[in-house]
Amino acid sequence: NRKVVLNKRPQGEIADDDLVIREEPVRDLKDGEVLLKTLWLSLDPYMRPRMNDSKGYMDPIEIGAPIVGESVGRVVESKSPNYAVGDVVTSYSGWQEYSIIPGDAPMVYKIKDQGVPLQAYLGVAGMPGRTGYCGLTNVGKPKAGETVVVSAASGPVGTVVGQTAKQMGCRVVGVAGGEKKCRYVVEELGFDACVDYKAGNLEADLKAACPDGIDVYFENVGGEVTRAVAKLLNKGSRVPVCGYVSAYNAEDASKVETPFHVFGAMGENKPEHRFFLVTEWQDQHQEVTAHLAEQIASGKLKYSETVAEGLDNAVDAFKGMLKGKNFGKQLVHVAD
Ligand code: NDP
Repeated sequence: NRKVVLNKRPQGEIADDDLVIREEPVRDLKDGEVLLKTLWLSLDPYMRPRMNDSKGYMDPIEIGAPIVGESVGRVVESKSPNYAVGDVVTSYSGWQEYSIIPGDAPMVYKIKDQGVPLQAYLGVAGMPGRTGYCGLTNVGKPKAGETVVVSAASGPVGTVVGQTAKQMGCRVVGVAGGEKKCRYVVEELGFDACVDYKAGNLEADLKAACPDGIDVYFENVGGEVTRAVAKLLNKGSRVPVCGYVSAYNAEDASKVETPFHVFGAMGENKPEHRFFLVTEWQDQHQEVTAHLAEQIASGKLKYSETVAEGLDNAVDAFKGMLKGKNFGKQLVHVAD
């Protein structure tokens, strides 16, 4: 069994020997256990803070342990009545080719066939998609006619936020890095506008794209985008703080300016609400997954993905994603 493990805690950007591949045999199953073969691995920004030795809403990854992550896997052996050989599930089994899970492990879900590619259950019909959908509808609460801005617009979270807000009758403006991503967001995903924050004219471009100000800002990135957005927020606006990926590689997280510093400076009118999908809306998992999969199957929800081939390419793909090299959901294809 080949796995990518945490060899050293990264200081800033991930260095060559921070994450390494280890190999060990798969042990025999005990009663009640299930052996999964990983087919697809999801790469998500949150994995970077978990490599640090600081406790967030989840524990840090231990040195020597596989990098955490959700994957799609097929049951290849089962000593649990809950799973049969051939079942396909999503589980948090980490960056490895095989994993053994207890048959009653939490956060393991059988994929029901809705005519959607399996890997979509790691992207727009998976955790990121549910994050966008639940964060927007429960915290952003957009009303028809309002202006919704979402950063990292071409990624799986942003993709779902923007298309859902469009369906709710909003004016939707994306923020993304580079002309190619911005064109895609408008022409393929159907946003009203998309601002390229790398084009050097962020504040003016954002203002021009939001002539009536901003009512909902779905925060994915932090940094200069957040500062530009803060100047345009309308009274009564809402800011679901989903993440701030621009700071995830920071060497000293305590010194990083977060969205809370930016919006906190607005005093009593500060609009932010930090949320975590898994702690707030895990009970909506089945319902929202089915909804998003149905949207994909019926052609209403569009998305793109970037696929790295094999576990050997996972680390480079992950490093690239933190710099915006991915175009849409970043996946690793591990096996068929
Ligand atoms: P994406 O696939 O969108 O990948 C991250 C994107 O962030 C990059 O493609 C890049 O897009 C953008 N980015 C990277 N660096 C910067 C930077 N310095 N400034 C601005 N943008 C940058 O990721 P996801 O859709 O999976 O996740 C989006 C956000 O949602 C993340 O912050 C993530 O942590 C958060 N999240 C939160 C959850 C929760 O429960 N709260 C659950 C899941 C995700 P571009 O090239 O356009 O800049």
